Amino acid sequence: QKKYKLVVVGGGAGGCATAAKFSRKLGKGNVAVIEPSEEHYYQPMWTLVGGGIKTLSQSTKSMSKVLPKSCDWIKTRASSFDPDNNTVTTDDGQKIKYDYLVVAIGFHLDYDKIDGAIDALKNDPNVCSNYASWTVEKTYPAIKNFQGGNAIFTFPNTPIKCAGAPQKIMYLAEDAFRRNGVRDKANVIFNTSLGVIFGVKKYANSLLKVIESRGINVNYKRNLVAVDHKNRESIFENLDTGEKEKFEYKLLHITPPMSTPEALRKCTQLVNAAGFVDINKDTLQSTKYKNVFSIGDCSSAPTSKTAAAVAAQVGILKKNLSAVMEGKEPELTYDGYTSCPLITAPNKCILAEFDYDANPLETFPIDQGKERWTMYHLKKDFMPHMYWNLMLT
Ligand code: FAD
Repeated sequence: QKKYKLVVVGGGAGGCATAAKFSRKLGKGNVAVIEPSEEHYYQPMWTLVGGGIKTLSQSTKSMSKVLPKSCDWIKTRASSFDPDNNTVTTDDGQKIKYDYLVVAIGFHLDYDKIDGAIDALKNDPNVCSNYASWTVEKTYPAIKNFQGGNAIFTFPNTPIKCAGAPQKIMYLAEDAFRRNGVRDKANVIFNTSLGVIFGVKKYANSLLKVIESRGINVNYKRNLVAVDHKNRESIFENLDTGEKEKFEYKLLHITPPMSTPEALRKCTQLVNAAGFVDINKDTLQSTKYKNVFSIGDCSSAPTSKTAAAVAAQVGILKKNLSAVMEGKEPELTYDGYTSCPLITAPNKCILAEFDYDANPLETFPIDQGKERWTMYHLKKDFMPHMYWNLMLT
């Protein structure tokens, strides 16, 4: 049995950044990261991978390169949590003990909850999804080869990471259809489970203008429930009436339903009814265990789930967990800051930034509700650099 001062579960955006901050502070051998994946992905780049602007390899680094050298990498999956005994058990039967725990295991992608989706993603070149490393490279060829008909983009009936991403790829595709001379034969459709286009009014208003000017059809409260790729049909449930509607497609981009990983969800002491680590939204500390914190997609912080939110949370976590380690109370308060660069074309972006109350919390002294090429370059060129060289180090 091994014991660490700090155990971090998950080596994604949140886990890696946490390990970097604390392994420096606590020194070699005191921090462990439990993470099964050999690769670390900068997932925010996947919109651009799907749009043919970047490659999957540009978004990928080996986990051994991004995890700090001074932490112990336990290369397996956490299978259960026992917060009453300060222990995490792994898939291969190790029992890892800790003084402090940070849970950052992100979201699980539930493609299997859509009947036929996995089969379609594996076998139909016209069905794609930017959300997983094994599907994101299908998106651009599907867009490039599109010759007309229904191009459908979906938004599921669960919380998801980067709530803007399901429509960003639609704007890039619509732009590509124009450039490829097939726009007049295309019917671009956004079928979303939500009742609004975006949760923050200011940016929703801007996006509705984009949608109108580009001739996109939006159907609200439509949830993808099945794909029959042999007949090129997708079935949506109307969430108001419960009726099923059939849409033929020539291109289908799926955003899958998401949930927190099973290993976490089954630990009822740690999670809320929805399966998220139950934390105080101000301090990021577990509501029940003072030595447990959580950041990122798997925490109950009621903000939009993004890497930008993680970047803001890491600063709060560093201060508050350090205080708790010194026997003090958490001192900093997280305001829910999150950001979503809403790419609307290969040179245009609306940079949404907002807080827990969906109030804009903008960085720049200009109207960020407008489409701007400066924000596009910030997203495409500067943010990856910030992620790899500042956030993760
Ligand atoms: P992740 O980074 O997903 O990391 C979770 C880690 O936990 C993974 O490494 C996983 O292997 C590991 N794990 C899972 N289960 C276990 C287990 N049982 N035991 C141990 N480890 C486990 N964010 C932005 O800020 N801007 C954007 O423009 C943006 N666009 C996006 C576009 C797409 C297509 C996608 C997919 C995401 C986008 N995001 C964006 C969201 C952003 O990538 C996530 O919000 C962010 O990565 C969350 O960090 P995390 O650490 O919580 O989870």
